Amino acid sequence: MKSEELFKEAKNYLPGGVDSPVRAYKPYPFFAKEAKGSKIIDVDGNSYIDYCLAYGPLVLGHANEKIMGKVVEQLKIGSAYGVPTENEIELAKLVIKKVPCAEMVRFVNSGTEATMSAIRLARAATSKKKIIKFEGSYHGAHDYVLVKSGSGAAGLPDSPGVPEDTTKNTVLIPFNNKEAVVDLIEREGDDIAAIIVEPIMGNVGFIPPKEDYLKFLREITGQNNIILIFDEVITGFRIAEGGAQEYFGVTPDLVTFGKILGGGFPIGALAGKKEFMEMIAPAGTVYQAGTFNGNPVSITAGLAMLNQLNDNFYAESERKGKLIRTGIQDILSDNNLDFKIAGLSSMFQLYFTDKEVYDYASAKSADTEKFNHYFQTLLKNGVFIPPSQFECCFISSMHDKEDIQKTLEAVEKAIKV
Ligand code: PMP
Repeated sequence: MKSEELFKEAKNYLPGGVDSPVRAYKPYPFFAKEAKGSKIIDVDGNSYIDYCLAYGPLVLGHANEKIMGKVVEQLKIGSAYGVPTENEIELAKLVIKKVPCAEMVRFVNSGTEATMSAIRLARAATSKKKIIKFEGSYHGAHDYVLVKSGSGAAGLPDSPGVPEDTTKNTVLIPFNNKEAVVDLIEREGDDIAAIIVEPIMGNVGFIPPKEDYLKFLREITGQNNIILIFDEVITGFRIAEGGAQEYFGVTPDLVTFGKILGGGFPIGALAGKKEFMEMIAPAGTVYQAGTFNGNPVSITAGLAMLNQLNDNFYAESERKGKLIRTGIQDILSDNNLDFKIAGLSSMFQLYFTDKEVYDYASAKSADTEKFNHYFQTLLKNGVFIPPSQFECCFISSMHDKEDIQKTLEAVEKAIKV
């Protein structure tokens, strides 16, 4: 097994054998050789229907022809300039056209950088220090937000190396709980600069907001001089053209993006109201910078991606998502299992719990051993999903009826423990 050997070797040179923790599942992860459309192929020649899709960016599947074409054209004329390009204006205009709260955009290199910069901006705009974060939400791997995070960090209460002085300004509360927000703002509202929220929690599986919850956050932040930041690194351009803010009809002050926006290349972005965005250097004094910010390859790929996301794409994402979710639900019912299937559009996750999942604590009631059996059995049957109960699965426009049929057959085998 070449993957097994490579993993053994990799562990000598890369911490844990990988470059991002969730990739290192047991006994060893498969190493990718190539990918096309809905399939990823490993170095041993196994082909998998891919629902990980690089953790979300690839809504048009792997190696999309139009994106690749534009990227190759760009590569021939340079991969980084360190001076502005016209395409940055084009992509910014497209983001502004699609996203309700976006009046200006700063392009960065990752979701992590986007949330770090958004929080800095919110603190500067309000002259306050604290931020509210929801338990289990993941906003990247920087110090401000690495407290009770989801994704690969789920279960780690914290990380060594993050100073208490930093995290004492990050206040945690449960998602979907209005009282917790009201109480906290009553006690500490004068110190709270921002609420940062994944409008749909996608790093502890899939947890939608309860009815009116986002509207409630909008109102209470507005009344208390608190900046509302939607972290739409996953939901942006996915569940609707304008992301979760369009879908739920709630407009935040700032929004962060990553993943889809780069068309499969590294990117992040911070966008929002002009009054805040113009505080960013060099227009204003809030420092934000990057050698690869607005990188021409990522920007070109992003343009080629967004230009393909039309009404039909969104309708198809919803249709396929429903097909998978109802298919899994039918299998659960036929087998008298009360596990919970959750999802919307191209996002879904199966929770191995019979409890309703509406926040981090309820998500943690899921049986991770059962999930692991499910994951491993799916893999043996040619279906690759993210290797954690606390990640979310993604569907692309390249997943066809046959893929979904095969997937459901594999799920039927995998849920029986
Ligand atoms: N925010 C959310 C909601 C995310 O899902 C992620 C990554 N999964 C990030 C921020 C961090 O993005 P990146 O990995 O590009 O730094």
